[in-house]
Amino acid sequence: MIGLVGLGQMGGAMLRRLRAEGQGVLGFDLDPGRREAARAAGAIACATPAGVAAPLVILSLPHAGAVGAVLAALLPHLPPGAVIADTSTTEPGAAQGFAGQADAAGVAYLDAPVSGGPAGAASGQLAMMVGGSAAALARVRPSLLLLAARITHVGASGAGQVAKLANNLLVATHLAAAAEALRMADRAGVPPEAILPVINAASGRSAATEVNWPRWIASGSFDSGFTAGLMRKDLRLALALAGQVGAGLPVCGAAAAAWEGSAVEDAAEFNHVPAGIFSG
Ligand code: NAD
Repeated sequence: MIGLVGLGQMGGAMLRRLRAEGQGVLGFDLDPGRREAARAAGAIACATPAGVAAPLVILSLPHAGAVGAVLAALLPHLPPGAVIADTSTTEPGAAQGFAGQADAAGVAYLDAPVSGGPAGAASGQLAMMVGGSAAALARVRPSLLLLAARITHVGASGAGQVAKLANNLLVATHLAAAAEALRMADRAGVPPEAILPVINAASGRSAATEVNWPRWIASGSFDSGFTAGLMRKDLRLALALAGQVGAGLPVCGAAAAAWEGSAVEDAAEFNHVPAGIFSG
């Protein structure tokens, strides 16, 4: 049995993947609708976070506050030696605090944020970046491999979150930069559908031009499963980290400001490009 807390876009896809791989899942979410969907997918839906206690518990929550609330309810119920793999994106400092709490309770907490979105979770192709005990990771690696084909132990507690924030700073910057470059080309008479294959065969390519643009931007669906609100959250965390360590972000900071000023204010709306850049 694997415990899973947070059954939203990512957690719901992880649940379906684990079930498809024959795993028993104990699931909890604050939202009764998510719990019902978990039951329909063949999981045991629990009424409290403590109900998911198992040797491996995976978290997929929106922010560190939710992680802290779940851990407070869950930690006293975990079996000795249990491992919590937190796939949520949070502050590295928060992850270090959670690891200390877990240690005091006789269990291990790994910050294990992921890249690849709901599609990556559903196909087991996530990239997972892990901070914390290498021995604890080794114990649960076979189960985590069902979700994440690429697992990297980055370093001590918090290191996984540092890697994730750097990654998403690049994702946001690449998307904003691609939007600007494609708009320039469009106005000069070369539309996106003509220039994208050229860029993707040349050195300007990135996941923004190879994946996001063809799948979710050109189609106008914008339904990658990653909301503009989550992107802004990640950028705020990255900016805070940069401030703490004194790293200047003149280029990425400008991209972050564009996302922050995006006209897309509804955090539930899926989007991949700040509206101001895309249409301006
Ligand atoms: P989501 O909002 O779809 O899902 C979060 C779920 O957590 C919701 O169902 C919510 O009801 C539940 N929740 C909130 N507080 C809770 C609590 N205290 N106890 C139990 N359940 C609680 O978000 P998501 O897109 O699935 O993202 C989850 C995490 O994964 C975030 O930290 C996000 O940054 C990260 N992430 C998302 C993506 C993506 O593409 N969506 C990709 C990589 C990482």
